[in-house]
Amino acid sequence: MDDRAVALEHEIAELAREIGFDLFGVAPLRPPKDAARFRDWLREGRNGGLQYLEADAERILDPARMVPGGRSILVLGMAHSRAPVELPGGGRVARYAAGRDYHNVVVKKLRRLLRQLKQRGLVREARTLVDAGPLFERSHAEEAGLGFASKAANLLHPAYGPWFFLGEVLVDLELEPSPAVDFGSCGSCTACLDACPTSAILEPGVVDARLCLSYHTIENPGRIPPPIREKLGSWAFGCDVCSEVCPWGRKAPELGERFGTHRFLEEGLLGWLERLEDFEVRAEGSPLRRPGREGMARNAALALARQPGEPQLRGLLQALASDPSPIVREAAGWSLAQGFGSDSRSRSALERAMREDPEPENRSWLRSWRERCGNSTSS
Ligand code: SF4
Ligand code: SF4
Repeated sequence: MDDRAVALEHEIAELAREIGFDLFGVAPLRPPKDAARFRDWLREGRNGGLQYLEADAERILDPARMVPGGRSILVLGMAHSRAPVELPGGGRVARYAAGRDYHNVVVKKLRRLLRQLKQRGLVREARTLVDAGPLFERSHAEEAGLGFASKAANLLHPAYGPWFFLGEVLVDLELEPSPAVDFGSCGSCTACLDACPTSAILEPGVVDARLCLSYHTIENPGRIPPPIREKLGSWAFGCDVCSEVCPWGRKAPELGERFGTHRFLEEGLLGWLERLEDFEVRAEGSPLRRPGREGMARNAALALARQPGEPQLRGLLQALASDPSPIVREAAGWSLAQGFGSDSRSRSALERAMREDPEPENRSWLRSWRERCGNSTSS
């Protein structure tokens, strides 16, 4: 790299640091090096219901299409490590979801960086991307020297482990790619493969979204399949198991203050269910808004099945059994059957729901939960 190129990269790295990013690197704007793997993953249907990945496949595989004259990808990382998040009254959500929505935070910072690059006359055409944008982020971030691709299919960094967000700015500025960094590797560790509750990590680096709790609680708008929901435990949004067991994240700094704690989180599962009518307003600005009223009510009902001792719970689940959403009614029926097989009011609520549900498919599901309930009562 010549002196001018070095100085320019230092200038951008310094800007990124001032804006609040912890990690910065440059990758060439070209197809991801893992393109073949991505194609195979899609072909095998492992994206589950993430249809946008298929719809956007052309751009993901050739990101230069997104920016006329595009040359480089600026890859930025923002760490978010914090302690495990237990909801008041029980239930868990992914750590990143405790605070303000990172999409908003990261995108604002990316736009600030881009404004400054434009003001300096360095960039004319550009595009900012966070998370769900049409880019194979992990692959480009690895190329930009932000970490290494792990067996859990995320990126690991020596300081932050798996606990950092990625964002990118695709620019028409020619920059030298960041030098390759040898951070190490997973080695012989298999902790995430062993700990995943649903064996969703099929082989090192390959996660099947159709088995992943994170996918089902956040992106699946329908019923969570019974074999998956049985492994949910108390997860009401996302799943951190593969990250929590990873030795690379153990020394990550505590950064909970960065994104704060959203007030919606403080209501807990019962609070969410008590006031579903204004869910969208109360969850505004939180990642927990993503599954919508129906998805979060479903998740809360399933997670609450683990807390049969909660006094308000029976009434709430009984009320949910007549919710306008068939997805929520069915989840409430499952939860009633799981936790309250010996409780006569819950049993009669479940039986009423089973008889009166307007949807035949739902009646069939509820009947099978009633049978389970009957079995546990007679045993
Ligand atoms: S997020 Fe949870 S379910 Fe998904 S791969 Fe990781 S451990 Fe498995
Ligand atoms: S838990 Fe072990 S195998 Fe899994 S990502 Fe971390 S280091 Fe790699």
